[in-house]
Amino acid sequence: MKSEHELILQTEIGEKFNREIKALMASREESSIFRTPCTSPSAMWLQEQTKSLSDEDLSNFFDWYLHVLPFAYKLYVEDNEYDDEYFGVNGEYTDEIQSIHRRTEDFWTDSRAEGDVGEISLFSAHGSDLADREKLIQTLELLFDDSFDEYSVEDLADDIQELIERLPGRYDYPLLTFNAFATDAMGPDEASIIIGDGYFQFQKDSGVESEGPEYAHTHEYSHHLQFLLQADELNDKVSDQSAKKQELMADAFSAYFLAHDSGGDMTSEEISNVNTIAYSVGDCEITNDSHHGTPSQRKCATIWGSSLADSDSGRTLKLQDVANQFETWYAKIDEMDDSCDYPTQSSSARSGSLSTWLVTTAAASVTAILF
Ligand SMILES: [Zn+2]
Repeated sequence: MKSEHELILQTEIGEKFNREIKALMASREESSIFRTPCTSPSAMWLQEQTKSLSDEDLSNFFDWYLHVLPFAYKLYVEDNEYDDEYFGVNGEYTDEIQSIHRRTEDFWTDSRAEGDVGEISLFSAHGSDLADREKLIQTLELLFDDSFDEYSVEDLADDIQELIERLPGRYDYPLLTFNAFATDAMGPDEASIIIGDGYFQFQKDSGVESEGPEYAHTHEYSHHLQFLLQADELNDKVSDQSAKKQELMADAFSAYFLAHDSGGDMTSEEISNVNTIAYSVGDCEITNDSHHGTPSQRKCATIWGSSLADSDSGRTLKLQDVANQFETWYAKIDEMDDSCDYPTQSSSARSGSLSTWLVTTAAASVTAILF
């Protein structure tokens, strides 16, 4: 089945999710592939969430784009009533998301930061929208208009609703909405951020519910800041592994804001949780062009961003200056070890212990094997 709305299929976690779930389907008998040599908490969580599904249901879930439908409905079908948006299955994250949105806007539109992206609308995605047959059919018609013949859109809607009834949690099954992204797909003046309930559920299950929503929002907001910086060169940004750089930069901008006295003003303990959630969304498919950075690299990006904010003490860098400093940091990203250190350069400087020497030497050997 082919979609006319390719854009919606290439989303924040969507692409990565697609690859991971394909790998999951291929590897149900050898689950150890997720464990070495790099472990992605989000891939492990995905695996856990799909454990009770039959092979056929898992396959149909993916083929029918069930993980995309709630987002497509929200962005393309629903009449946009911004005031009615709630975040989380029961609206439990609404205040948090709205509050961090206001603070993010205040910080980046400040004349000193010069990151004014204009008005950004906030949207949520809920699996429960698919329980409404009319909404579901409208969404399916929009995405798969040319695909129906004797097997009608009503038939597909029936099959989809029957499948969802078999899922754990039914319409609240988190993989229906395990995604978040920044888009201006609804029109040139309609910049928006959309966050699915499943993303919040993943954060809750990962034990970082307290700062997770702030990270999710500010990471997506940072993609809008990137659009601002890269307006003229976006078309050139399809080169190898550009996704990795964009994701790590969004993590860095996010942590810069969250740690900054004039921004999120988070404590070091809160930032530590942010580092953990950034780590959890890293993936291990380092040779793939759409790789988003390993768990360690994503954690290192938030550590770097928050350190930059700490060193600011009382001033706010311009967005372009943060970006320039990020470029310098990113240039050596592949030399960095899991502790965000540069083992090949620093081993002689460390007049340290035997164990430190062993660790750095081992890391350097791994780097040599990989590259
Ligand atoms: Zn991103």
